[in-house]
Amino acid sequence: MVLGSTLAPLEGFAKPIEIHASHEKIFHNLEELEDNNPQTSDTPALTKIAPKIDDAHIKDYLTKIRNPDRYHADDIILDTKGKQLLDAVVKRLGRLQETVGHGNFCIFDFDTSIQAARRHPAIGEFTKEELDFLEETFCRDAKDYGFMGDKQINKLTAGINERDFSKIPYTGNYLFKGESQRKFAELQKRVGEELILTSGIRGITKQFYLFLNKAYLYDGNLSLASRSLAPPGYSFHATGDFDVGQRGFGGGNFSVRFISTPVFHFLTSKGYVEYRYKKDNMLGVRYEPWHIKL
Ligand SMILES: [Zn+2]
Repeated sequence: MVLGSTLAPLEGFAKPIEIHASHEKIFHNLEELEDNNPQTSDTPALTKIAPKIDDAHIKDYLTKIRNPDRYHADDIILDTKGKQLLDAVVKRLGRLQETVGHGNFCIFDFDTSIQAARRHPAIGEFTKEELDFLEETFCRDAKDYGFMGDKQINKLTAGINERDFSKIPYTGNYLFKGESQRKFAELQKRVGEELILTSGIRGITKQFYLFLNKAYLYDGNLSLASRSLAPPGYSFHATGDFDVGQRGFGGGNFSVRFISTPVFHFLTSKGYVEYRYKKDNMLGVRYEPWHIKL
């Protein structure tokens, strides 16, 4: 039995299937299970509180987020046409990133991206079908994939005001002025040069690229992508959160190996930060010990 067992893989972008109520029930039960801590109780509270079927759902849910890159039976996967569009869009966004530079790409809004693609032959104009695909992806309720976080940006064409952010030297990343910059500066001061900013502000185009590229690498599996990357519009990187890492640790900064680093130990032992996606969270997202909640 799997989470949202009535949910069959969708063909392309067919009408989303309503699974919200069942999700809520599962998460409600998960909270009850945790609250009652069956390990320390000598009564069979677990069976009384949650029917066996939900217990199976919870186990299945935890298996998913603990193994985010594994395929699951009820994952939503694009159909052949969807995969063709995914392929074209991911490659075009990749060319856009190469052309405008990785830094600028982080803060590009949707309209600027379309214009840049039109202007530069090396990128090539987005087709009508590709734009429809992007719009449908943006409008789709991420709960369909199993991503339970709330939407942060509701307008596809929303931009970021240049006055509201600035580039963080030597990182290629941007942070919002105010709380985000203050928090990062404070962490750097406390932890020292070992702490680096690995990802700051991500505009809608960047989030599209990360999310869709992940799906592209896993045969059009949108649910799998959503366990590691928030679907466009749902990322807190658009509103202030940022990622930190250990200097010199490379890709390890985006894996659970990050918890073995001095930077992580320092941040956590001193209680300097709060994490957005904690271990076994109920948002449908893997554990992200590098993602700082603002
Ligand atoms: Zn992050």
